[in-house]
Amino acid sequence: MIAAKARFKFAKKLQNVAGFRVPDFAFNGVFMDILVSSLDYDSLDRTMRSQIIAFFKDFLECECKGSPQCGCPERKFALKILELRSLGLNHRQIGEVLLDDYGIEIYPTDILSFLEDSVHTLEAIRDVARIEGNEALLQKTIDAIREIEGK
Ligand SMILES: [Zn+2]
Repeated sequence: MIAAKARFKFAKKLQNVAGFRVPDFAFNGVFMDILVSSLDYDSLDRTMRSQIIAFFKDFLECECKGSPQCGCPERKFALKILELRSLGLNHRQIGEVLLDDYGIEIYPTDILSFLEDSVHTLEAIRDVARIEGNEALLQKTIDAIREIEGK
């Protein structure tokens, strides 16, 4: 799970503002709960506030009863990476966007292996679709692979 590798760069700073221990990992349940329930947003500096608000809006907002521990945040984060890739960004540029927009640090090599894993998964689905004669799914997976590979 790629989300498990995402760290919040300003965790220490946030910890000083919040007055209690804040985990480094952005998709840690405790970290998400802090953002959802107990953080005083007015006490943050502008950059950190806009990053946390963007993180909240893009990943944590959903209708599930168990939110944010429902799996959606991790899924949305993985989709975000694929979306940035489909815009033509490479793994380094994706890392830069995540840092600028959300204050999230993640190794470009982790992003790269996530993209490769995604291609492998899609290839497996593509092969099954081909065997089963599922043309719609076959075309979808071919397109998705092409987008990730940037061809
Ligand atoms: Zn959800």
